[in-house]
Amino acid sequence: MRLFLASSNAGKLAEYMELARRSGVSVELLPRFGELPAFEETAPTFAENSAGKALYYSRFADGAVLADDSGLVVPALGGAPGVHSARYAGPGATDADRVQKLLREMRGKEGAERRARFVCVTAVAQAGRAIAVASDMAHGLITEAPRGAGGFGYDPVFLFEGLGRTYAELTRDEKNAYSHRGKSFSKLLYMIPLDNPAPS
Ligand code: IMP
Repeated sequence: MRLFLASSNAGKLAEYMELARRSGVSVELLPRFGELPAFEETAPTFAENSAGKALYYSRFADGAVLADDSGLVVPALGGAPGVHSARYAGPGATDADRVQKLLREMRGKEGAERRARFVCVTAVAQAGRAIAVASDMAHGLITEAPRGAGGFGYDPVFLFEGLGRTYAELTRDEKNAYSHRGKSFSKLLYMIPLDNPAPS
């Protein structure tokens, strides 16, 4: 099975290519993704943005399109950055800017107030029809300062509770085995019909 990923996020693409390789499927960037009119991710839920993205880009693809809407939810910040994770520090901001903004907002918060979860909704669509949607999450704590050099986005400040290290301190295999994205993607593959006929 071949899936075309609709994303401009290089970190996500690297993770999906590795996840797919281990599952015997192939994931590659949707051809000419950068030249297509962008899908506006304005919905208030990860589910709507993910399914909407997959459906929208499937109109431009000759095959099945994979989309992912994901982000970091911090209950003590009212759910922020949430669906706005990519835009949390405004247009043109870097991963480092977003991490610094998050750490500023978390100042003075202690113990259970530092709880957070990463959420990922994955979706596959083909020719304007939804084929499968799946979601999962990973629980952790926001650290006081960045730790580790791996991954992308908020990885250096997300202490994954299962292993007691930040996502950025995990090996790529460890992150893929336990992450919101890895778990959501393996559910998604399980839900795609094996014959996966092209919808008419
Ligand atoms: P979107 O799904 O393209 O709207 O962007 C999701 C944003 O959430 C990314 O740009 C990151 O800032 C953040 N994010 C999602 N997944 C991860 C992850 O695995 N590690 C770190 N940050 C993530």
